[in-house]
Formats: sequence, structure tokens, C-alpha cells
Amino acid sequence: MQPVVSNYRGRFAPSPSGPLHFGSLVAAMGSYLDAKFHQGKWLVRIEDLDLPRIVPGATSDILFALEKLGMEWDEKVLFQSQRSDVYQAALERLIQKEMIYPCTCSRKEIADSGRLGDSGLIYPGTCRNKITHKERQAALRLRTDHFPVKLTDALRGAVCQQLEREVGDFVLRRADGVYAYQLAVIVDDEVQNITHVVRGADLLDSTPRQIYLQRLLGYTTPVYMHLPIVTNAQGEKLSKQTHAPPIDMSNVMPQMIAALQFLGQNPPKALVNEDLTIFWQWAISNWQPDKIPLGHP
Ligand code: GLU
Ligand code: ZN
Repeated sequence: MQPVVSNYRGRFAPSPSGPLHFGSLVAAMGSYLDAKFHQGKWLVRIEDLDLPRIVPGATSDILFALEKLGMEWDEKVLFQSQRSDVYQAALERLIQKEMIYPCTCSRKEIADSGRLGDSGLIYPGTCRNKITHKERQAALRLRTDHFPVKLTDALRGAVCQQLEREVGDFVLRRADGVYAYQLAVIVDDEVQNITHVVRGADLLDSTPRQIYLQRLLGYTTPVYMHLPIVTNAQGEKLSKQTHAPPIDMSNVMPQMIAALQFLGQNPPKALVNEDLTIFWQWAISNWQPDKIPLGHP
């Protein structure tokens, strides 16, 4: 039996690009169970910064589904779209530290000159010392360095990334003024005093960037646990883009059981005939994160 951590604060941070589907249910359930097992708080944050990807109604669909499924959040829902001034203040601290520079490269210029890394194109540093196109709107990039960033994922063990070589200087504010996920997520995890981040393994690769930013800003680094990703028959991550069907709210129990099993838990067969209260009682008191499979990376 794992020890109970005191003052645990976890969160679920969906992007409102569509209704809750089986993949996001697994992420919500994993973070909720881990928080509730530790008698902690579970917060919900809507990551609605990237307006073109936002689907009208998705936020209320997601919140409605979470509530209906018995996953109640313990504090006010935070909306990233309302927090630009907080992200700007963090950015300004990095500007003062001379860690930020404007970049006017187009997507095509970066594609032509950058190497492809595991996290996408590696920015070759073209604008590090001078702006190339003064007439263009600039994105703001963070300088990376060659020191390895190490973390121990609660499920996956040691992870190490050398940001300058493997990722490159990354954008914190896009040329259109939108704050990047990497910046917003660490500011909000800090402001909300998140102690444990439980989320999909597709974000494992972003974690060293987030830890690097936390260190520059003097923030606390939470414990990270990256859950296996739900994929479809083609091996693609379930998402709006891959047309994942929404959770069928008229008959939730089989999907709840399937999500729990996906997380490696072993509920008794009869649990499917019970109501959500009994489901959660069983799932919380029997939560065994060491049973979670790693899945395909
Ligand atoms: N908004 C991100 C997503 O939906 C999750 C961010 C996080 O959990 O750090 O993929
Ligand atoms: Zn550039």
C-alpha cells in the first residue's frame, strides 16, 4: 500500500477542443483517483488559450460530463483565456533575466533550416543575436542551454532531456500574441499550488521544458505521473482530430469500468451494475498506481 501524501493538490486541464471522450476520461479519472486516494484536492483548469482550436460549447460539455460522472472539482474552475496579465508578468521576469528574444522566422524558414527532433522541429537559433525581419510581428522565444534536465516520473522512472540539442529555443508567446501552453501551464500549476501532475504520456516530452521554466522562475516542481495514452485501431491518440466519439452519457457505467481497467485496475465484475457512488468508493479505496501499464510510448 502506498503512503498517503498530505496536502495533495492535483488537477485536470483539458483543452476545450471537443467533448469528453474515452481518452480524456482516462486522464480525468487517473488524476482524480490519485488525488482522492491521497485525500487531496482536485482542480479543473480549462486550457482555452489557442482560440482557433476551441469549439464553442466544449467547455460546458466537459464540465457537465465531469459533474455527471461524479468528478467534482474542489475549487473554482480556472480559465486560461482570462489570465493573460499573469502570463505576461511571468514573461517579463524572464525578459529581465535576458532569457527571451524576439523571433521573426516564418514556419517555412524554420522548416528549411531546422533539424527534426522528437518534439518537432528544432529551432536553429537564427534570431538569437539579431532579428532577421524587422517588419514582421515577432514571437518570443526562450533561450535553452546544454545542461540536462532530469526528472523521475512516478510511473516511468528517470527522464532526461538536453533542451538546447533536443528541443531548441522554444516559443513562449506567439507572433499573434497567444501565450504558449508551456508558459501558461507552469504559471497555473504554481499559482494553484499543484503538488502532483497526472496527465497523458504525450506530454512527457514537454515536462523538461516545464521544469526548466519552473527553475528560471523559482517555482516548485510538482511530482509528475504520465498515464498511458488511449489510441484507436490505427494507433492514433484519441482526440478531436482523430474523431474520437464523445462519452455516451446515457449509459456511463461500462465506459467508467473500461477506463478503470485501462488504468490497470481490476474492479469486480459486479461493479458495472452499481451506481457511480459505489463505483468511486471502490475505485478510490482500491487505487493502485503501480498497476498502471506504461502503454506504447
Ligand atoms: N491541455 C492539455 C491537453 O488537453 C493538458 C495539459 C496538462 O495536463 O498539462 O492536452
Ligand atoms: Zn527566428
